[in-house]
Amino acid sequence: MLNPNALNADLHCHSTVSDGTLAPAVVAERAHAGGVALWSLTDHDEVGGQAEARAAAEALGMRYVTGVEVSVTWASQTVHIVGLQIDPACQALIDGLHDTRSGRARRARDMSEALAGIGIAGAYEGALRYVGNPDLISRTHFARWLVDQGYCADIGEVFDKYLAEGRPGYVGHRWATLAEAVHWIRAAGGIAVMAHPGRYHYTDLEHDALFDEFKQLGGGAVEVVTGSHTPDQYRRYAEVARRYGLLASRGSDFHGPGEGRVELGALPPLPPTVKPVWHDW
Ligand code: AMP
Ligand code: MN
Ligand code: MN
Ligand code: MN
Repeated sequence: MLNPNALNADLHCHSTVSDGTLAPAVVAERAHAGGVALWSLTDHDEVGGQAEARAAAEALGMRYVTGVEVSVTWASQTVHIVGLQIDPACQALIDGLHDTRSGRARRARDMSEALAGIGIAGAYEGALRYVGNPDLISRTHFARWLVDQGYCADIGEVFDKYLAEGRPGYVGHRWATLAEAVHWIRAAGGIAVMAHPGRYHYTDLEHDALFDEFKQLGGGAVEVVTGSHTPDQYRRYAEVARRYGLLASRGSDFHGPGEGRVELGALPPLPPTVKPVWHDW
């Protein structure tokens, strides 16, 4: 292709291996149907879906890139770092992801207790019914149960009312450090990508410190076009990519049909001013 920025790459989405609602092979079909030419499944803290995703993509004639989305705590907030082109058999990565996942069950029980305290009983057992991977219970599974129980109209409302930081069902959690996440990804031969930076609630100083540290640790790219960004944020993060010498990535962050997010492959292309993370793949 003459203009690599126009490639329909979707390098961020989820399956039942983490908090998506479709199996990896079904997400592959949906990506292909959405016109995606280069695809990555990036489940939270877990690479268990990679073999199925690659096999399904290759059967469809779609190029596949291995991926993961690592949960990090930085300056008391959660940041997500996507790793692309990782070797899913890398032991340092596997061990690191295992440690990162390990607190989720405890946290889920604490969330359930917190919700019980405001009159919502049985949330842990309820959320478990939505979990595809017992190792990975997430706030999204609680959110789906709360919607189906009639507490809220949609998942966004659940987060706003109950599960976002500061809301009554929120339980703080310490994830991996930024240094650990970037190290595991690089140890696995991958490139670390700052996921959806427009979603974080940092001051300008903290924001710049986050990117300084990410760059210093060997971070390689930033999501510019994502389902979490507005068009203004596409422009803002294209400029951040230029300022920090980072490549640019693009991904829907698709979790399932009808969850109010963008479809696989449906986002606008990367702006012409950035260099895509796939430029030399
Ligand atoms: P966890 O890793 O358990 O803290 O869950 C984080 C996940 O919750 C994210 O990956 C999203 O899928 C989902 N999430 C977080 N905030 C929101 C929101 N405001 N609306 C919908 N989903 C959200
Ligand atoms: Mn998610
Ligand atoms: Mn994320
Ligand atoms: Mn995601």
